[in-house]
Amino acid sequence: MSSIPIRYTICPTHPAAHRFTVSCTVTTPDPAGQRFALPAWIPGSYLIRDFARHIVAIDAEAGGKNVRLEKLDKHTWRAAPVKKGLALTVRCEIHAWDLSVRGAHLDETHAFFNGTSVFLRVLGQESSPCLVDLQRPEGKSFAAWRVATALPLASGEKHCARRHGFGLYRAGDYDELIDHPVEMGCFTLITFEACGIPHEVAITGQHDCDPERLSADLKRVCEWQIRFFDKPTQPAPVSRYVFLVTAVGDAYGGLEHRASTSLLCARNDLPYPGMKDLPESYRKFLGLCSHEYFHTWNVKRIKPAAFAPYDLDRENYTTQLWVFEGITSYYDDLALLRSGVITLPDWLDLTAKTIANVMRAPGRLRQSLAESSFDAWSKFYRPDENTANAVVSYYAKGALAALALDLTLRHGTRGRTSLDDVMRELWQRFGKTGIGIGDDDVQRIAEELSGLDLERFFAQTIHGTRDIPLEKLFAPFGIRLAWEKAKTPALGVKIGDEGHGVKLATVYDGGPAQQAGLSAGDTLIAIDDLRVTAKNLDTLLVRRKPGDTLTIHAFRRDELMCFHLTLGAHDDDAPRLFCSKSSNALRHAWLEN
Ligand SMILES: [Zn+2]
Repeated sequence: MSSIPIRYTICPTHPAAHRFTVSCTVTTPDPAGQRFALPAWIPGSYLIRDFARHIVAIDAEAGGKNVRLEKLDKHTWRAAPVKKGLALTVRCEIHAWDLSVRGAHLDETHAFFNGTSVFLRVLGQESSPCLVDLQRPEGKSFAAWRVATALPLASGEKHCARRHGFGLYRAGDYDELIDHPVEMGCFTLITFEACGIPHEVAITGQHDCDPERLSADLKRVCEWQIRFFDKPTQPAPVSRYVFLVTAVGDAYGGLEHRASTSLLCARNDLPYPGMKDLPESYRKFLGLCSHEYFHTWNVKRIKPAAFAPYDLDRENYTTQLWVFEGITSYYDDLALLRSGVITLPDWLDLTAKTIANVMRAPGRLRQSLAESSFDAWSKFYRPDENTANAVVSYYAKGALAALALDLTLRHGTRGRTSLDDVMRELWQRFGKTGIGIGDDDVQRIAEELSGLDLERFFAQTIHGTRDIPLEKLFAPFGIRLAWEKAKTPALGVKIGDEGHGVKLATVYDGGPAQQAGLSAGDTLIAIDDLRVTAKNLDTLLVRRKPGDTLTIHAFRRDELMCFHLTLGAHDDDAPRLFCSKSSNALRHAWLEN
């Protein structure tokens, strides 16, 4: 294996045309013909995306002469063999117009890219070190652009970049190279330290974020998580961490990386100067930051065997996404509570919402968490009109499974063992060693630490589809789960975007709408001869009773149809959690310290 670095350059050559020019130079190409490939997916987002489809031109040269490139499949090329001693360079033009956390985006205001969208993998030399020259676009209007990334500076090299500058950066190998997204532009830079480790928040897009409030809250959450996983005497897994935030009108999403995260949010989710309370929008944003930060341990370092290493050419199947997304979803809000950023009533409210989310979708009775994890690539990440009927979210139900496991461990051991201990053990045994966890390791370690037999728990909660008995699990902690009836009797549908009429996004299995013959995609235009819209739907139903029959006119494609629907019982759709007034030692150790 060569230790001579692979050299990359990337330049936002044509911002107005959304085009990057990227090159990759190999000093010792395969004498039989060097192969290059672009990943089919980006770790953390389990869908085949075929990033190579955005390559609009590609060529190769060695010693000043063109080298023939043969395309082998949708994302792999082989260069003709070159004379010994000659370096081989492949150059591509890449279209970048995807303002998501998963791809690459370029316009005249800024550039953002993930390495998976732009850096070719040199097959057979994946473990070689990499040097990357991040270049500034030409023109006066880009003179103020800076760089935000967790890529380390290429210290000791000529043209080494300065912090936030253009120039040379480095990565230990290809896997690291593609795990540090890069932002270029005129972002706002906020810095703070958590447990002595420098943290940065780079915010792109128009916003009026209060830097003091944001850094104070994030510092608490980050410090809590660093202390959660290890003793203060142990080094944290990162020496620097970067939150790359793009603020737009309305969006929500994040993707985790080993020392950074890319976040997309609504600009109004950010705290504004003078803000005193904690609005739900900002709470949601902090929850997203907390979620992605927790992944620094859980999935970036504690990872399933199927991801160690990632196979970037195809789907990587694992039954354990509930561990990495579900447990992370449980701890993202819990970290806000335990670090003092939100209150116990806030946390009970958030947990009740997760319960409502899971219980609303009949798919929870069809698919187990293990199956949902395994089929993420073709089901969870490709939602359609039947998803709510057939799929359970390994995020939401995974978070409830984590909650249930935590409660089971705490109650079963009288507070001696908790999920916290399991996570710390996973970090010591797997996260720190880089060994991938096997399918049964979470159960095995939980049993080992607690001395409990958890066979039935895992069979029912992870591999089965029975509802989790949360009422029973909450009881010893002095928390009561109650269900509030909905204000209107049930139609048995989920409605889509507002427009003319009411478009049905999903028709729930066995519900009143399905029994009446309605289908997803149908647009309701009248109920009992009165015009219906998403806005007045509840008004039309509020005085009706379960068992009443409605005459519904709806369009299916362009055909007007008439349906007779018998309303169902009021849905149990609003779970609420209440805490007993009296003190409870188990609850205190769990939520109140
Ligand atoms: Zn996640």
